[in-house]
Amino acid sequence: MEEQKKLTHALQEEQIADYWDKHSCFEKSVQDRPEGKPYVFYDGPPFATGLPHYGHILASIMKDVIPRYWTMRGYRVERVWGWDCHGLPVENIVEKQFDLGSRKDIEKFGVGEFNDKCRSCVMTYAEEWKKVIRRLGRWIDMDHAYKTMDVDYMESIWWVFKSLWDKEMIYQGRKPMHVCPRCETVLSNFEVAQEYQDVTDISVTVKLKVESGKYKDAYLLVWTTTPWTLPGNVLAAVNPEMKYVLVDAGGVKYLVGESRRESVLKDIKYIVLETVTGFDLVGATYEPIFPFFKDHKNAFRIVAGDFVTAEDGTGIVHIAPGFGEDDMQLGLKEKVDPIMHVHMNGTFVDQVADPMQADGYEVKDRPLKQKGDTMSVDIEVLKWLAHHDKLFSKEKVIHSYPHCWRCDTPLLNYSTESWFVRVTEIRNQLVQTNKEINWVPENMKEGRFGKWLEGARDWAISRSRFWGTPLPIWKSEDGDFLCIGSKGELEELSGQKVDDLHKHIIDKIEIVKNGKKYTRIDEVLDCWFESGSMPYGSIHYPFENKLKFEQGFPAEFIAEGQDQTRGWFYTLHVLSNALFGMPAFKNVIVNGIVLAEDGKKMSKRLKNYPDPMEVMEKYGADAVRYYLMSTPAVRAENLRFSEAGVDEVSKKFITILRNVLSFYELYKEHDDGRSPLLENILDSWILSRLNETLEEQTVALNSYELSSGARCLQGFVTDLSTWYVRRSRDRMKSEGEDRQEALATLRVVLETFSKMIAPYMPYLGEVVYQGVKGGFAGSDERLSVHLESWPQSGMVQTDVLEKMGQARSIVSRVLDAREAGGRPIKQALGDMTAWVSTGEIGKQYQTVILDEVNVKAIKVERGDLKVEVNMGLTPELIRDGMARDITRRVNQMRKDAGFTIQDRIDLKIYSESDEVKRMFTEHELSIKDGTLADSIELIKDDSVEHSQESRIAEQDVWIGF
Ligand SMILES: [Zn+2]
Repeated sequence: MEEQKKLTHALQEEQIADYWDKHSCFEKSVQDRPEGKPYVFYDGPPFATGLPHYGHILASIMKDVIPRYWTMRGYRVERVWGWDCHGLPVENIVEKQFDLGSRKDIEKFGVGEFNDKCRSCVMTYAEEWKKVIRRLGRWIDMDHAYKTMDVDYMESIWWVFKSLWDKEMIYQGRKPMHVCPRCETVLSNFEVAQEYQDVTDISVTVKLKVESGKYKDAYLLVWTTTPWTLPGNVLAAVNPEMKYVLVDAGGVKYLVGESRRESVLKDIKYIVLETVTGFDLVGATYEPIFPFFKDHKNAFRIVAGDFVTAEDGTGIVHIAPGFGEDDMQLGLKEKVDPIMHVHMNGTFVDQVADPMQADGYEVKDRPLKQKGDTMSVDIEVLKWLAHHDKLFSKEKVIHSYPHCWRCDTPLLNYSTESWFVRVTEIRNQLVQTNKEINWVPENMKEGRFGKWLEGARDWAISRSRFWGTPLPIWKSEDGDFLCIGSKGELEELSGQKVDDLHKHIIDKIEIVKNGKKYTRIDEVLDCWFESGSMPYGSIHYPFENKLKFEQGFPAEFIAEGQDQTRGWFYTLHVLSNALFGMPAFKNVIVNGIVLAEDGKKMSKRLKNYPDPMEVMEKYGADAVRYYLMSTPAVRAENLRFSEAGVDEVSKKFITILRNVLSFYELYKEHDDGRSPLLENILDSWILSRLNETLEEQTVALNSYELSSGARCLQGFVTDLSTWYVRRSRDRMKSEGEDRQEALATLRVVLETFSKMIAPYMPYLGEVVYQGVKGGFAGSDERLSVHLESWPQSGMVQTDVLEKMGQARSIVSRVLDAREAGGRPIKQALGDMTAWVSTGEIGKQYQTVILDEVNVKAIKVERGDLKVEVNMGLTPELIRDGMARDITRRVNQMRKDAGFTIQDRIDLKIYSESDEVKRMFTEHELSIKDGTLADSIELIKDDSVEHSQESRIAEQDVWIGF
């Protein structure tokens, strides 16, 4: 007994994982399927620099269920793991490890050395990942994982880049973009979109003194939430159509948008002198706010800007063309160059910093925006403004502000040179080919993803970093570019052997062509360009595997979290469209975010969620898998992870199905292996329910609807256990044809069902399959359920389903009536009447009903569904109840004594009561059968091993055996 209790499902899972390994079940499940029938799945590479969390686990399960299903459908589903190795996540770790605070530090450390450190730290967590993925029951080849840092992978990226270059889809340009001042690099717009946080900033309203024209000596009021950009101010923009007012406040004149007047001037007394249009103000000059760039060409003028609105601020907009898209456009139009008064590392240039520092403002080498400190430089600027009588008012604002997705530093909008992919040029095509993709949930197609495509911008792909695939561009002194598309090409042009394409290696390689010397440009590629190149890089296309690629592109299936609509889904789509004019995948499942039970983000610090490995050890991986797959998290909705939910799966699904299996195993020796004949209505019913569930599940899996495919399974388990097995117990105990039929039916049901649950619950599927087949023998013909084919659906007898449904409704009404009338189920009742619309209930259904509700006879009438039960008790019925009660008690005693069905007993019963004696003569046989007794006597015998004094139907009864 003890042994059996210890073998929980969770423990058995670990043994099964060993069994699969020992017999190479995964490899066989791939190789057994024909090569010419591929089903291509792309695994999105996770960063190898962190541990797997519930988000990864959720996605991993989806990526296991679907491939297992299509394998069973006869397809060859190769599954190879990938690692995303390059980029800021890795660099940040090495920076921390060696205390490298800036680019300069890294250059001093040595780029080669730095990259070596990056390479060696990349796979830090690989072993931990392997453990989790294996325990989860996910089948994927992790031993031959592709890595984005492999030279083959990088060469394919070069091929992608060169292909785009040849299509003139790559260009270099200067644009205001978001940069991370700490990482000192540009981020793409979709990286920026990933991380917005609320921050507190100071907004200021500044006074600009007009120096020419009709309003000379009046002050323009200008509002900004980024005081640090004010030294870069070159223009003040007004909307020429809008109305402005000139007011007098105690002798000082201000100009402000008319509709903004009340909120801007709310704290001062003033009279309105004049109302004018923006057009009247255009052309006047004003005194520079800061004197540092006072000779800047064409600057410090009031100009017209259509984008100026009366929605917030003062109606007059501060323009710094180095720090914003509208600003840059206006600067270009007005022919005034940006003043770049800030370094990319987010500190002021000396021309600003030195004089301010000398006057006592702490700004020198001080980052404008840091994690946890977004305001200190702005405060210095504000103090300077106040001291120079340029400050009109200030206010704290809380606004949503972009942050670096890797290091959490607030970003700066900053104009800089970068290389771009001309995404805007293929935007329509991106939108069109998206229509061919099957999105789950469907609203992603037109919604989150579709909208993102419609607003697609050119993609900034160069990063002034170190650990990444270098842009394959070499530049001559006079500004000519060479783009290289392969290792071979570089070797040919340089005359050097090349084994590694990383920056510190190839930066040393010079090319001489037509008498000109070319050196490589500085930047490496955005790591999202690399993961977007996964369909090519993972199989070294087009340098190898050409045919394989062509047969399997686009992929049938991918799955990731909803954040990837702006990440991997997007870059896959952009690159495949740029290369081939088609989508990279046909079906995609988008999962939501797994939150802690309290609805908050899962946080290691707060420990507000249970460790995934511990949960798997406690309830089993199958429980976690089924729980997650049956929630709306597989339809992009957020999920509050509930350990109780996992526990419920373990109790209501896994334990119950295992109990059904044990029940079958108990009688299995009597199973003669026949096919079910469906003569008993219970058998027809359960097989129809099985086929109905199979059809429902097949439809769901074919359309990638994981949660509906999962949920129908639970309903079947409940029906199987609480109806079929419950109603078939006596059939199993009996001997003869009916038992053979019941066993045959249960066998077929369990075997078929083991295949149906196999994709979702690979371990439980295996347990049931091997249990029916006779144990984990490791023999070829029944090695694993996962080598089996998906079951064919058989007949669904809808009339049987309907009639049994009706019978079960009647049963539940009778049970309600018994409860209300105070007649427990063990007390047999005489008769009942049931009303049904047809006025008929088949004989077999009547038997099922009467057995279940313990009533002797049923009368059926036509009418709306209802029942009436005769609660009256006759001495005969009371004796019948007594017999049942005794049977029940004996069985409880047998159980307490640890008896199995093999153990027969010699039963002795004794009572003074005549009613008991009478009951004994009437029910001797049924008690004997029901208690597995060889003999039964009406005597008291104190020499028996087990005995009990009981009170049954108000009579004293002694029981012993
Ligand atoms: Zn950063």
